[in-house]
Amino acid sequence: MPELPELEIAREVLIRRLQGRRVTGVTVAPKGGAIVVRDLTTLGFASQVKGSSITSIQRRGKYLLFGLQAHDSGASDLHLAINPKLTGRLQLCPPGTKKAAPVHLTLSFDAPALELRYVDSKTMGQVYLTRDLSLIPTYGEMGPDALELPLEEFRERLRPFRGEIKGVLVRAAFVAGIGNAYADEILWEARLHPYRKRTSLQPEEVERLYRAMRAVLLSAIETVRREMGEDIHLKPRDFFSVHLRDGQPCPRCGTPVSSVNANQRITNFCRTCQPGGLIRGM
Ligand SMILES: [Zn+2]
Repeated sequence: MPELPELEIAREVLIRRLQGRRVTGVTVAPKGGAIVVRDLTTLGFASQVKGSSITSIQRRGKYLLFGLQAHDSGASDLHLAINPKLTGRLQLCPPGTKKAAPVHLTLSFDAPALELRYVDSKTMGQVYLTRDLSLIPTYGEMGPDALELPLEEFRERLRPFRGEIKGVLVRAAFVAGIGNAYADEILWEARLHPYRKRTSLQPEEVERLYRAMRAVLLSAIETVRREMGEDIHLKPRDFFSVHLRDGQPCPRCGTPVSSVNANQRITNFCRTCQPGGLIRGM
């Protein structure tokens, strides 16, 4: 479940280790690779990626975007876009290193020998090769990155959404980069009940939510950088305040953290710090 902070640190590490390097080998696993890898150019995934050089590595929301320069042309408009979704991860390691999860795609590099593996226990994520990012399904509908919008735009973008605030926060069409885990953390920081309707939020609460979003994500980036190091397949989770801390004391008030399972996702929050809202599924 990589979200904005984990992908941001993965990007930092990958820039340091892979930018400017040439892909010397491409291995697409027959089974999982066929599900995960989507060649939108239809010109052949491995043949185009092999021999190309990585010219840039960017992140937008929960996508990592590799700019590739083909070996036989000066063109650099080929993109490798990785969206790991809930279960995908990247592993950067010397060849022969134990797999972090089933490997569906491996890019190999020489001198020093290194592999960038896409691993995914449930083949939920996607790896696209395309010259035009707008061809990626739903990519064009993605809102701005959660760390790149001012308060007024945040307010403006929030307005059309009418549902429960947690459900809004995790929608990429609103802002990109926040998933289930960080949505819980942000709402706890903002002292807002996850099932409050967006329409019930006062302007002051929206501002609190915006500030909590920035504070939680920026602080998580620092923590993840420290805890993940170069092991970008790791998912540091031990620093969370409420997410996955069902029954443990709220770090602010000591109330046991509540857990509600609805819409196929677990929501953790503190009933004392985050009052109100209709509790569903209970
Ligand atoms: Zn509390």
